[in-house]
Parts: sequence; C-alpha cells; structure tokens
Amino acid sequence: MKYYPTIGLEIHAELLTESKMFCDCKNDPLETEPNINVCPICLGHPGTLPKANWKAIELVIKTGLALNCRINHFSKFDRKNYFYPDLPKAYQISQYDQPFCYQGFLILPFLKKRIGIRRIHLEEDAAKLFHSPDGKHSLVDFNRAGVPLMELVTEPDFSSAQEVVEFAQELQLILRYLKVSAADMEKGNLRLEANISVSQNSNELGTKVEVKNLNSFRALAKAIDYEIKRQIDLLEKGHQVVQETRGWDEIKEETFSQRSKEEAHDYRYFPEPDLPPFSLSAEMIEEIRSKIEELPQEKRERFEKEYNLSEKKSQVLVENPYLADFFEEAVSELKSLNKEADINLVYNYLVSDVKGLEKEKGTLLENSKLKPKDLAYLVSLAGNGKISSRVAKDVLAKVFEEGSSPQEVIAAGNLEQVSDENQLEKIARLVIDKNQKVWYDYKNGKENALQFLIGQVMKETKGKANPKIIHSIFEELKRKETD
Ligand code: ADP
Ligand code: ZN
Ligand code: MG
Repeated sequence: MKYYPTIGLEIHAELLTESKMFCDCKNDPLETEPNINVCPICLGHPGTLPKANWKAIELVIKTGLALNCRINHFSKFDRKNYFYPDLPKAYQISQYDQPFCYQGFLILPFLKKRIGIRRIHLEEDAAKLFHSPDGKHSLVDFNRAGVPLMELVTEPDFSSAQEVVEFAQELQLILRYLKVSAADMEKGNLRLEANISVSQNSNELGTKVEVKNLNSFRALAKAIDYEIKRQIDLLEKGHQVVQETRGWDEIKEETFSQRSKEEAHDYRYFPEPDLPPFSLSAEMIEEIRSKIEELPQEKRERFEKEYNLSEKKSQVLVENPYLADFFEEAVSELKSLNKEADINLVYNYLVSDVKGLEKEKGTLLENSKLKPKDLAYLVSLAGNGKISSRVAKDVLAKVFEEGSSPQEVIAAGNLEQVSDENQLEKIARLVIDKNQKVWYDYKNGKENALQFLIGQVMKETKGKANPKIIHSIFEELKRKETD
C-alpha cells in the first residue's frame, strides 16, 4: 500500500513592537519579574476599551507582502470566545473572516517547491501559566497577555518533514530580516503547530491530527515523522485516525493525545464591537511595501552573482544577517586596499577563523571588537605575504578580543613576516645543526622530514617566517650538499 503524507502549518510569531496590541503597556513578554507590564486593558477588566497598535498591523502587512499575499482592503477584528485562565476576559481579540493577508506563497529556497499561504492574521497573545509540580495550583503571568501575535496558516502543501523544516527556517529568516519578530523557537516567540494526515489516495486528504508544543526544528521534524508512521500503522491495522490535538513528548520522542479538536463554531466568533474596522488604501499598502528591504532569497542570488559564491557559501552568510553585512563591508574595504581582492579569503577567515574564535571566546562576532575594515586589512597583508597566515590568526584573535587595530598589534609585536633570505638561511642552518638526524632523512628523500624542519624555523621565528622562502632555502641547501 502507498501512503501520501500531507502536512499544513499554523505558525504564531510575537511581533517586535514597543507596546502591546491594544494598550500602552510595554511589549516585553520575557520580562523576568511577572506581572510588571500590565494595565486594566490587558488584564481584561470590564469596561475598558482596546485601541489597535498600528505598528503591529504594519508588521503583519509587511510580512504578507514579503510572502506574496493579497491584502484585504477591508479588514476587522473578531472575538474568539473561550474560557481559560490565561485570558480573563474570556475572549481573544483575533481575526476571523477578514484577515489582513491571504492567498500568498513561499517558494522553498532549496527544494524549490511552492507552498501556499492561506492567511496571515493578527491577534493578541494570552497570559503565561505556570503549573506547580504537584498539580495543585497554577500562577499566571500577564506580561505576555496582549502582546501582538501574528498567525500564519499554510495550505496543506507539504509532503515531508524536510519540506516543512525548510519552510519554517526560511520563514524564521524572513521574519528576522523584516524585523517583524525575534522568531526564536526556544524562547517561545515563534510557535509552530503541524497538522498531519496520511491518505492512500493522492487526490484526497486523510483525517488530520494537530501536533503542538514543538519547541525546535528538530522536534518539528521528529514529530512529523513519528506521526506519519503512527497513522500509517493505524490504517494498516484497519483502524481509523481520530481527529484530535496531540502533544509532543520531547523525552519519549512520541506524540500523545491531548484533546479532541474543537470546531470554529465552538468559538462563537463575532465582530469585535469595540474596534472599528480598517480600510486600507492602495497607497497605504504601497507605502508599507516600500519599506521592505532585501529578502533572504534575493540576497542569496545576489551573493552568488556578485561575489561568485556557491549556493552553499552564500547560504552560510545569508542565514546570519550580521555575518552577511560584515562580509560585504569587509569585501568592499578590501577592494579599496587591494585591487585583486581575494573574496574567498575573506569568506574563509569569517567562516573558519572567526567562527572558531566565537566558540573559543564565547563571544559572537557582533559582540566582539572586530570590525570589517580590520579583517580586510589582515586579509590584504596575509594575501600579499606581509604577515604569515599563522600571525594573521593570532592578530585576528587579539583584535577580536581587545579591539586594538591590526596595525597596532603587528607593530607592537614586531610580527611582520620575515622574508629576508639571509636571515632565514642563518636560522635554517641553526635548525639543521640541532636536528642532524632529520636533516639526514630529508636528504635521503623523506618529504615529511622537511615539514618538521620548516616547523622548527617557524618556532624559532615565532611563526613569522615566510614558509615559501624557508622551503626553498632547505631545498637549496639539500641540493648543495647532495651535488
Ligand atoms: P481547522 O478548521 O480544523 O482549523 P483548517 O482547514 O483551518 O482546519 O486548516 C488548519 C491547518 O491544517 C492548515 O494549515 C491546513 O493547511 C492544514 N490542513 C487542513 N487539512 C489537512 C489535512 N487533511 N492534512 C494535513 N493538514 C491539513
Ligand atoms: Zn496593558
Ligand atoms: Mg484552524
């Protein structure tokens, strides 16, 4: 039997606004002290009136435009009624039939599949509940209540976990590029729910199950694979899949039943009477569109063309916007120092040496003292042999941590590469004297003996010797002695 898996996503993202959605409280859901950013509106006191945060609406429309959506010229908020302690007014202000954005799509950047986006709407986040371990009581933190929350719903267009993860990662990147959301899954400001079904018929969708509490891309992929397998096993045994909401157990790596799925009519949606509907003119929409800067896929394509980078290398830069900007600035600085700028060298320093320093020092590049022009200067010195690559690495580490300019570090440490042949020959002879046996081996054709000898000269010169020149000095001495 062949089974066709289908997946659709519902994604919530907290928006990066100064204030909350319907009141003036600060939008800072991760505030460590609970119930600091609260007022009668976001606490749901009766008789208070909401007013909509235009900045949040702008961010949602911006996202919609970046995702090729149509924008509703007429839009409104609706009440979604439900009873739960995270929402004391017993309804969430959300959008039902007139979301700000609808009918968009995103083309997966690597798999190149088109994924339909059904809608993107705006709503308010609920409070956060903390349950005591004994299950006897719960505490409520309202810092998150009323934070602007975007909900994006895709069409059921995915057929594997791989496609879903690629979509989710690209969306995360787009939200970050647009400065719409911090989109951090671990911190809960990007939350994903996957709807999963399998069918024996490619033209017909099976019964879907919704999986919640997916806190990482890894969990997302694992849960989808698990659920596809669970549903196929059920059907193979002649059972039915029950439409329900399931949770993801991170420890057992399996999904578990949470509750049967509610229907839209359970929420008794109706238009929010305290907020006037919105009329968005074409000019307003174009004004928002004009604020959209370069998107990740545009940047990838430009990097491949402009810098002649492979798809993989441009992705390494693009997935980290700070790194991408740093790279571009360093390349442009390098071009002003050196006409034959070696772009690949800039790339290599950034993704190997700088990455290594980030790990070693526990400091991200953006928090380090290294500036693009410093890197450009080092690359140009290393590129034309003024300093050895060993020294370049040491100077890089020093600048990264301490922030003095590479010029200063090199001058202070007397680190310019030694290319003076007379001086190097003296050192080479010294090394030969101390290592007669190795020298003998080298003369008898052992090539790795040469590496050892060069290493010794490096040691004597604290890494400053020009390795190419030492190499030829040893060759020359060998020729003389064996002639
Ligand atoms: P509901 O009304 O139950 O919320 P929707 O039709 O609104 O269902 O869809 C919610 C999400 O589930 C969307 O992301 C959609 O793509 C996805 N979805 C709908 N039907 C299926 C299905 N049979 N299998 C997988 N995903 C589905
Ligand atoms: Zn408030
Ligand atoms: Mg739904």
